[in-house]
Amino acid sequence: MPLIDSHTHLDFPDYDNDLDLVLSRAKQYGVDKIINVGADLVRSKKAIEIANKYGNVWATVGIHPEGCDIDISQAQKELKKLATSSPKVVAIGECGLDYFYDDSKKVKQKALFELQINIAQELNFPLAIHLRNGKDETAAMDGYNLLKKNKVTNGVVHCFTFDKTWAKKFINLGLYVGFTGIITYKNAELLRETVKSVPIDRMLIETDCPYLSPQKYRGERNEPSYVSEIAKQIAETREEKIEKVTEQTAKNTEILFNI
Ligand SMILES: [Zn+2]
Repeated sequence: MPLIDSHTHLDFPDYDNDLDLVLSRAKQYGVDKIINVGADLVRSKKAIEIANKYGNVWATVGIHPEGCDIDISQAQKELKKLATSSPKVVAIGECGLDYFYDDSKKVKQKALFELQINIAQELNFPLAIHLRNGKDETAAMDGYNLLKKNKVTNGVVHCFTFDKTWAKKFINLGLYVGFTGIITYKNAELLRETVKSVPIDRMLIETDCPYLSPQKYRGERNEPSYVSEIAKQIAETREEKIEKVTEQTAKNTEILFNI
């Protein structure tokens, strides 16, 4: 049963003491391939170091919207340098819009997102996209509009939490949607409706570890071996065989990131 965890943060200090163990546990659970996503310049660099060290880990380089105070021309220079520094770099991101804690920096966030869209297109990389609403749906809307304006057709909207209407809109751009352990939470009925609505060939699975442990491990540190819980939930929700879910999501991830 091949499994791929399409969005992790193994470069976080949470794994400083036992990354070898975490990765061998992932292998035991059938997780063949792992994408480690960079969330700022320092972390992107560390993500590349990890990917260079472990054959089954790939890296992305990007700056999360919370880092939007960075100087744009510096960000551009550094990201391009990092993106071309190793063959293990497979995408730009995570990048996007996050209005959840602070929606006073929308202009800066949009500028940083668009910069990374442009870098991805210039270097022919897919995008790892993060969109999180604040009090209303504006992050989904603003993100969608920016992606559409720039004719983005290659990427994944990770940690998807929007309804099925939004899922359809992003998929119609040509993008994938990524589901995390959130779909296993008791109160996630609406999101499970989205899971049902998304064609299986447009969906990825991810832990987004160390965050968002699936229900079974809630309260613990998350890790790639738990991605099987997300596959299980998708199979249950859609009434499909788990083998079909793991095989197809693995295939989707391989196509998207060219791994
Ligand atoms: Zn993430």
